[in-house]
Amino acid sequence: MITPLPAIDVPSPARTVIQLLEDAGFEAWCVGGFVRDAVMGRPAHDVDLASNASWQQLKALCDSAGIPVREIGVKHGTLTVLLEGEALEVTTYRIDGAYSDGRHPDQVSAARNIEEDLKRRDFTINAMAYHPERGLLDPFGGQRDIEAGVIRTVGNPRERFKEDALRILRACRFVSQLGFQMDEATFQAALSQKSLLGGVAVERMRDEMERFLLGAHVHDALLGTVDILAFPFPELVAMKGCQQHTPYHIYDVLEHTAWAVQNIAADPILRWTMLFHDMGKPGAKFEGPDGISHFYGHAKISVTLAAAVMERLGFSNHRQAQILALVKRHDDVIEPQRRPVRRALSRLEGNPELFRKLCTVKKADASAQAPQCAPRMQLANQLVQVMEAVLAEGEAFSLKSLAANGRDAMDAGIPQGPAVGEALSAALEAVIEGALPNQREELLAFLQNWAIGR
Ligand code: ATP
Ligand code: MG
Repeated sequence: MITPLPAIDVPSPARTVIQLLEDAGFEAWCVGGFVRDAVMGRPAHDVDLASNASWQQLKALCDSAGIPVREIGVKHGTLTVLLEGEALEVTTYRIDGAYSDGRHPDQVSAARNIEEDLKRRDFTINAMAYHPERGLLDPFGGQRDIEAGVIRTVGNPRERFKEDALRILRACRFVSQLGFQMDEATFQAALSQKSLLGGVAVERMRDEMERFLLGAHVHDALLGTVDILAFPFPELVAMKGCQQHTPYHIYDVLEHTAWAVQNIAADPILRWTMLFHDMGKPGAKFEGPDGISHFYGHAKISVTLAAAVMERLGFSNHRQAQILALVKRHDDVIEPQRRPVRRALSRLEGNPELFRKLCTVKKADASAQAPQCAPRMQLANQLVQVMEAVLAEGEAFSLKSLAANGRDAMDAGIPQGPAVGEALSAALEAVIEGALPNQREELLAFLQNWAIGR
């Protein structure tokens, strides 16, 4: 029994374009993520349209109606129509060759009808079409699979993954976003053919993996698909079953990681950080004679592994730097007092935003440990409060926030060159440690003494 379709509200720009095409004797349907999310009753998704009109035919109709268009995707049969502040992609019915940019196949040929166009789509839940009057077109049982919570390829999964291996990661991504499970044949094909991902462009993999990490069901998805993700992320394999015999932990490293990822805000920097934060534990682990597991130095190994993964996946330098700083510091002990907080801030390049993120990381980490670690979450909250006080009172924790600068150092008699930086760093150190107030007069005296002492 399939539940009656919820009322699907097609936004006005899409209705206008459908009307425009159909008044001219063509046919058009809503397709893809919009239909899937509408059938699921999830929040509205951008509408994509599919039509039997060529892009040139649609462009001619838009031109005569005075509707602006963009021709960026026309190589793949996609025309972007600009209406009511929205950019609507309209694609001619097509059959695909291989995909290499994640959105558009390398070669396309026209499909005869909507059914053929739906057939080339990846999963049954993504292969439905909807029309405001004609209703739902669902030739592969997408609605049934939505009700059952199943990700199933359209057609033979082995063949569909061979055509485009990115679909393997897309399947994992939909598991994480929707809380669904792969159907058995789809899962087995993804598992046994995961090495095909070796032929997929790294940025496509990175984008899908990021969507995976941002998913609302990422904990279950990570545990459920780890053996597939092992191809792009072999580092995960050692985490699976890596037991933590300590009073602080109740999960193995993989499940702890899965909870830590799930329990942090869906922000890319934070989610990648949690994925990486304990990756070094299997390498660092040893067991004492008392049977207690130790992981000394694991954060450093996590940094090495995370750097290698991000390099492989082509992360920007800026992103890498932030994530690595958080991974490196995730386990630092910071007392909730001004001096330790100033020190921690200076270790994070004096970046309060990064310190705030570090506290979030610590909180998520603690939330994924044994229940007795709950006070660590309080501690992370306290750290943020202390930092706010440090900021409010203008305390120094970086050269930028120091009440003296390079000019002052040279005026105090320090020769231009590296000595200036050394002197200012020494002054900053003294201020952070509380040995010197962050006041210009006092700093100038310190710098003059430094110049004399050299
Ligand atoms: P979302 O935009 O929420 O991530 P989506 O389903 O819209 O999800 P897109 O990547 O935007 O995903 O793709 C739009 C549609 O194009 C999909 O619903 C699917 O029908 C089809 N599609 C996308 N990528 C592939 C692929 N690699 N193989 C086959 N069909 C694909
Ligand atoms: Mg989309």
